[in-house]
Amino acid sequence: MSCMSINQEKALYVHIPFCKKKCDYCDFPSYSGKEGLMVEYTKALCNELKEYKDFVFKTIFIGGGTPTYLSYECILMLKEAFEDIHIAKDGEFTVEGNPGTFTIEKLEEFKKMGVNRLSIGLQAFQNELLKGIGRIHSEEEFMKSYKMAKEVGFNNINVDLMFGLPGQTMEQWKESLKKAVDLKINHISAYSLIVEEGTPFHRREKNGLLDTPCEEVERKMYEYTKEYLEKVGYNQYEISNFSREGMECKHNLVYWNLEDYIGCGSGAHSFIDGKRIQNTGNPEEYIKLVKNNGTGTVDSFKNSLEDTIEEFMFMGLRKIEGINKLNFKRRFEKDIYSIYGDIISKHVNNKLIEDDGENIKLTPQGIQLSNMVMSDFILDKA
Ligand code: SF4
Repeated sequence: MSCMSINQEKALYVHIPFCKKKCDYCDFPSYSGKEGLMVEYTKALCNELKEYKDFVFKTIFIGGGTPTYLSYECILMLKEAFEDIHIAKDGEFTVEGNPGTFTIEKLEEFKKMGVNRLSIGLQAFQNELLKGIGRIHSEEEFMKSYKMAKEVGFNNINVDLMFGLPGQTMEQWKESLKKAVDLKINHISAYSLIVEEGTPFHRREKNGLLDTPCEEVERKMYEYTKEYLEKVGYNQYEISNFSREGMECKHNLVYWNLEDYIGCGSGAHSFIDGKRIQNTGNPEEYIKLVKNNGTGTVDSFKNSLEDTIEEFMFMGLRKIEGINKLNFKRRFEKDIYSIYGDIISKHVNNKLIEDDGENIKLTPQGIQLSNMVMSDFILDKA
């Protein structure tokens, strides 16, 4: 394994590509109907993980797909592999799960594996909305899964919620947020629905059959989310993420701070020492590649300095605190204004960016127009 610096603590992402059923909006590298591959896939994953037994990880995130959909047998295999993976003291170890795939037995094994945080894909509390986006579960199933998680002793829990769903009213969105808050969930990810190409929703939208709220309502839903969650004690620390004090997702902060991470499994990628390494997104090919080479890598390239600076800006501006000017200088040995002076000034003038002396950050209006603002940070590489 070579030239990677193993002294510095890194983050580890592990991808489980299986889902019981594909949701109508999903373009993640996940599959339904491939359960026949689960055992072989998990074996391959355990082999790829062996490459990293000399590392110490400050965060681990098993995502997907639906990790809790893995069979009990596969979870046991994974648990054995994790006996050789080192997590830092106070490290964060998250597993993603979807209601309808939880069992107490599975959760107990994850707990024994060292998992100390659960992220549950809930999306909405209204059964008609859940059905309308193709989720497999109901509100009642979520409640059962949530109770199981508490019973097994998971207290650090995130729920994913979505707004801008077809047929969703403001009242329903308010109700979803309130119910999550009433459960004392300490981290809420609130995403707006993005209609991605190649999904059933995209086809429906093209045919004029997707009844999503208009932009104005969606904007109000987002505004309400910020105001309400702040009022009841959550801190917004990223465009779509809110947490109780000290309960931010450390793993996602690694991405937003553009620190090093290692990805294992199909569709995963790594960012190490300025190098991007991509695994195949195809689980069958992944199994073959790991058998032959020990990893699922199909592509890798070294970022140019400009690539890294751009990515640092795109990711950093997602954080509400923004980008620390001193950190930028330390990392790139250049003043941020020497590269982006004109762009920053332009957006400070139109009130989309603020420079508070220490940090450069998006204003609330800037967040609403974040795609447009961020595209200005693309560097000319001619
Ligand atoms: S459960 Fe998650 S990963 Fe699986 S299809 Fe639905 S949105 Fe995609």
